[in-house]
Amino acid sequence: MTGKSHLLCNASVAVATGSLLWRSCQYPDASAFNQAFGEFFYVVAEFLQGDHMSPMWLWWTLAAFLFVLGTLLPDCDTKSSMIGRVFHLPFEHRTWTHTIWALALCYAFACFVQVGFYLFAGYALHLIFDAFSYGGICWFYPLSRYRTYPNGARVKKRHVFRLYRTGQRSEGIFDVVVFTACAVVVVTTVASVVGI
Ligand SMILES: [Zn+2]
Repeated sequence: MTGKSHLLCNASVAVATGSLLWRSCQYPDASAFNQAFGEFFYVVAEFLQGDHMSPMWLWWTLAAFLFVLGTLLPDCDTKSSMIGRVFHLPFEHRTWTHTIWALALCYAFACFVQVGFYLFAGYALHLIFDAFSYGGICWFYPLSRYRTYPNGARVKKRHVFRLYRTGQRSEGIFDVVVFTACAVVVVTTVASVVGI
């Protein structure tokens, strides 16, 4: 998946998930986790009212930055990617950075630094969306069986869930489907809360 598609799909899923959590924190027995997401909306309201430097606002700015970073970071293994032009790691494409091991590292970071959860979430979504591409990814590289593409990329052997080809028209269609599904979730969720 290209960087732009990753940004669009991840942002769509994040907003849809946020709206669902926001709805659940309308109820008195909402968990602390949901309450935290609910606070996001108050912080946006705060910002719009001119309180640009509140600690919560800074926290959410950092969270958003880490989410975008996590969204793009796995593709630092290719120089032609959005992040690869700025920061590049010399691995073959879709190898170490596209594995459960790299995701576990992000999770470990999130265990130590709370806001790191957003880096983990962006990274996890990137891998999930890549897994539905024509080549797929090797979650357990180098333990799992893989094929090597002429450009060096390693992809899963006997990959089944091929929903789109990166950079092709099918990827655009996939983006539209993800975006539309998330938009439906947001609209129906907001409508159910405000009672339309
Ligand atoms: Zn990728």
